[in-house]
Amino acid sequence: MSTLKAELIRLIRDEGPLPVSRYMALALGHPRHGYYMTRDPFGQEGDFTTAPEISQMFGELLGLWTAHLWQAMGAPVRFRLIELGPGRGTLMADVLRTTRIVPGFHAALSVHLVETSPVLRAKQAETLRGADPDWHDTVEAALEGPVIVLANEFLDALPLDQFVMTAEGWHERLVGLNGDGELAFGLALVGEDSLKLAAPAGTVFEQPYVALDVVAEIARHVAGHGGGALFIDYGSIRSGFGDTLQAMKRHGFVDPLAEPGKADLTVHVDFERMGQAASKAGAALHGPVTQRDFLLALGLAQRAQILSQKADAAQRRAISEAFDRLTQPGETGMGDLFKVLAFSHPGLPLLPGFDLHRVPEQV
Ligand code: SAH
Repeated sequence: MSTLKAELIRLIRDEGPLPVSRYMALALGHPRHGYYMTRDPFGQEGDFTTAPEISQMFGELLGLWTAHLWQAMGAPVRFRLIELGPGRGTLMADVLRTTRIVPGFHAALSVHLVETSPVLRAKQAETLRGADPDWHDTVEAALEGPVIVLANEFLDALPLDQFVMTAEGWHERLVGLNGDGELAFGLALVGEDSLKLAAPAGTVFEQPYVALDVVAEIARHVAGHGGGALFIDYGSIRSGFGDTLQAMKRHGFVDPLAEPGKADLTVHVDFERMGQAASKAGAALHGPVTQRDFLLALGLAQRAQILSQKADAAQRRAISEAFDRLTQPGETGMGDLFKVLAFSHPGLPLLPGFDLHRVPEQV
């Protein structure tokens, strides 16, 4: 049994069942045994792969997007380029390389990273040597003056609470112990009368309060100080019900309660609610759209073509595979599953990648 699992079982025996958010927060962020605190989980050898790790094209297009936003902001002489949950630092490195040709951009920016994992901070320091980044524990600490915020697969790691509809109304879903003393899901005895949503028995409702707070805080900041933010993650364009908590290890799904601290735990992001939180805080919304639509609108196909012209046969195959992986729908690709939402100071025009001249599909 993992050390963290034993600790959680002890904690539940002493204090009672845990909200799903507390379980998630400990499984991912426990100072000694949390999943992200102890390892570099990315790539073939790791547990999962992300878009910037699949291809440099992803970060290059985001670099162009970032430079465009900076110009739309009036090219401020100082601004913070902030990334939330930068993983290995690959995305930021690609963004910085691509934007070197933009006059004045590098002289104006300072790099700020919001990262809790000491292992990944060390990796980011290595990747971003020369960029002289500052690290922050919280989003709040990173926000100052005009900002451009980038976040790929960050919101999906933030803890949320879950509620289940029963014959007696909504009850919070909790992590407790079963008859054998093993971790198991259960329901709070007392109902959650404040939830007024109608739904059939068995329905799960998720409350992503940490992600909503993060989005609202950044939206308030950009509305007041200028700038914008870009969030990419798997999730839905429209709000819905359902249990989206999932655990991943070695590129396959596992039981979320089986190995806390040893498997990645994520949830799907409800982009409709994130957008509502950002609008309410005073920012203008761009999207959400699918990752495929966003990357194609930014010129992914042209970028792949240019790179292929200079490549050998093996590299051309890799570029074409990366293109498919980033854009294909369904199970094989990230094109439909991943969504992109930006928000900005309300005085800014519609940002690149979102001007699709049509209503996004409901997926
Ligand atoms: N953006 C990267 C990594 C995504 S994985 C990529 O696309 O490859 C999630 C990242 O968020 C990791 O760097 C993880 O350590 C970080 N993270 C998770 N929870 C966090 C939190 N509460 N505060 C700050 N960083 C967090």
